[in-house]
Amino acid sequence: MSGTFIAANWKMYKNRAEAEAFFRAWRLLPAPRGREIAFFPPFTLLGVVKELLPSGQALGGQNLHEAAEGAFTGEVSAPMLSDAGCSYVLVGHSERRHVFGESDNRVAKKFSASMNGGLRPVLCVGEKLDEREAGRTLEVVLGQLASALGLLPPAQGFDVAYEPVWAIGTGKVAKASDASEVHLAIIEWLKKRGAGKEARVLYGGSVKPDNAAELLAADGVQGVLVGGASLEPTSFHKIATAGM
Ligand code: PEP
Repeated sequence: MSGTFIAANWKMYKNRAEAEAFFRAWRLLPAPRGREIAFFPPFTLLGVVKELLPSGQALGGQNLHEAAEGAFTGEVSAPMLSDAGCSYVLVGHSERRHVFGESDNRVAKKFSASMNGGLRPVLCVGEKLDEREAGRTLEVVLGQLASALGLLPPAQGFDVAYEPVWAIGTGKVAKASDASEVHLAIIEWLKKRGAGKEARVLYGGSVKPDNAAELLAADGVQGVLVGGASLEPTSFHKIATAGM
């Protein structure tokens, strides 16, 4: 994969009319050249967004179950996401880990299930505030990476999002130099293991139009995963074209 990757995580926001309004406006804005754009809407909007996406822009799920099918009420599998037109899926987002209690082991199963099901996972990793303050950022982030990749031989065909938990939805953004340090450590870790040769390492956590250019210019930052600021077309477009 090549090109800076700009991803929109809509979380549990928007109904059909709101998604249609978003894309009416989004399609009038010039397509960001040389950047890969992907939308991660709620499951109920996958079909709607698939129909409205400009060509060349991608669709992803926000979560998946590790089984391909079964008696798992309320869950969705990799083959189902694929069938709905997704090429990506978020795995181990901090809200899944810390609100829904997903363990490293569960995240590892989902990570391999997504690749076995033909999707390209975006593996989310990140430290909590107390872990950063205790100087444990790299230990936590690289530990999450090792755990997710542990079930597989040197895995290929995925991306990584470094999202410090204390920066998600809080308005607190990592300094570009701090993000860089973690991104370069992730890149080095993957390189040493021969994994993720084409992986892009995205930054996520309160990315906004006014900080996107600096973050995207930071060493090792190969894209951004955007929550709140991706809900409004002009704001997401400013991020998607930042620094161009
Ligand atoms: C996210 O949902 O992954 C995220 C980074 O959210 P926000 O941009 O709102 O902090």
